[in-house]
Amino acid sequence: MADNKLYDLLGVSRNATDTDLKKAYRKLAKEFHPDKNPEAGEKFKEISFAYEVLSNPEKREIYDRHGLDGIKEGGAGPGGGFGGASMFEDLFGGFFGFPGSGMGGGGRGKRRGEDTLHPLRVSLEDLYNGKTTKLQLSKTVICKKCNGMGGKSGASMRCKKCNGRGVQVQLRQLGPGMVQQLQSICSDCHGEGEVIKEKDRCGECKGKKVCNETKILEVHVDKGMRDGQKIPFRGEGDQQPGMEPGDVIIVLQQKEHEVFTRKDADLVMEHDISLTEALCGCQFIVKHLDGRDLIIQNKPGEVIVPGKLKMVEGEGMPRHRNPFEKGNLYINFNIKFPENNFASEEQLKTLESVLPPRPRTEIPTGENVEEVNLVDFDGSKGSGVHGARLEAYHDDDEEDGHGGHPRMQCQHQ
Ligand SMILES: [Zn+2]
Ligand SMILES: [Zn+2]
Repeated sequence: MADNKLYDLLGVSRNATDTDLKKAYRKLAKEFHPDKNPEAGEKFKEISFAYEVLSNPEKREIYDRHGLDGIKEGGAGPGGGFGGASMFEDLFGGFFGFPGSGMGGGGRGKRRGEDTLHPLRVSLEDLYNGKTTKLQLSKTVICKKCNGMGGKSGASMRCKKCNGRGVQVQLRQLGPGMVQQLQSICSDCHGEGEVIKEKDRCGECKGKKVCNETKILEVHVDKGMRDGQKIPFRGEGDQQPGMEPGDVIIVLQQKEHEVFTRKDADLVMEHDISLTEALCGCQFIVKHLDGRDLIIQNKPGEVIVPGKLKMVEGEGMPRHRNPFEKGNLYINFNIKFPENNFASEEQLKTLESVLPPRPRTEIPTGENVEEVNLVDFDGSKGSGVHGARLEAYHDDDEEDGHGGHPRMQCQHQ
C-alpha cells in the first residue's frame, strides 16, 4: 500500500533522518555521477529526484501520504517546482509503471471523497516504545457483485423525472414578472441522473452500488511520534462510484502520564526530596517508559536548591524517524523542609556549626527601634486587603514564567 520507491532508490528506510538521506544521496551520487559513469545517467536522475523530494519536508510529507501520484499532481501545477509533468514522465514513465501513459490515466480530475479522521488514544509508553494497533472501521465499498453499476450492465436508465440531470428545477411565480427558480436534488434518482428498475437491481447492494464492509487497519505508531500526529492511510476512506476515495487519517491522542510531561523530545518530571537529601546527596528510582529502573544519584555535597532543574542526558523521548537519538530527562526538584521543632537547641547548634555562617547584621539601638515577632501566616484567616494581596502574590508564584506579572499589574490598576 505504502509507496516506498523513492526511499528504496536511496536505499534508506521510511524513518530516515535528513542526515541519513544526505549521506545516502552523496554516496549514490558519487557512484552514479554521469562524469564517472556515463551509462548511469538515468539512474543519476532518479536518485537526484528522490533526494529532491525526500529532502524537502513538505514534499516528503506529500509523498509519504499520497505516494508519487501526490508528487505528480503537485509538480504538474503551475510553479510546482518539479519541472512539470513532462520531466516527470521522462524520468519515470516506464520506470515506475504508471497506469496508461502516466499523466492522463492517474485519475486526475476525478472527484475525491472526504478524508475520515479517527482519533487513536495512546500512552506515552506507546509513543516511546512504538506500537502496532489494529483498528477496526466500517466503510462503504463499491459493490463487488455489480462493480458499482447497481445492476446488470445496461440496467441503469436515464432518470425520466430529471432528464438525467440529477436536479429538478421548479419555477415559482412570486409576483408579476418575478419568478423564483428553485433547484433541488431529484427525488427519484437522488441526484445520480439514472435509475435502475427494481427487477434489474443488484441483489447484493440492492441497486445502491455500494456495500458496507468492516476493515482492519494496522496502525504503526512509530517511536517518537507526537500527540496530534497524523498517520494517513491513503485511499482507505469511503468508496463511491466515480469518486476517488479519500484517506483515513489516524490522529494520535496522548493520554496524560502520571510521572512524565513531554516537551518535544524531552521529558520533564517533578521529584520531592528532603532537605537532608538536598544537602547530603540522594538516590532514587525512576521507572522509565520502557520499564527500566533508572537509579538517579546526586553526590553528597552537590546541593540541590528549591526549584532546581537537573537533567539526565539522553533519557528523554526518542526522536521520530531517528529513534536512537533521544532528548533529555529533566527533573524539577521540590525540597521538603523539616517540620517546626525538628531538633533540640543543642542539635541546632551542631547543625549551625556545619552550615555556612549567618550573615552579620548590625542591630541598631535607639527610640526608633522596635522588636517584633514573626508568626506563621494562616491563609484561611487572612482578611481584607492583606488577605487578598497575599492571594495575589500566591497566584503570581504559581504562574511564574507565563503571564503572572501582567495579572499583578491588572490588580493594581
Ligand atoms: Zn432524477
Ligand atoms: Zn451491487
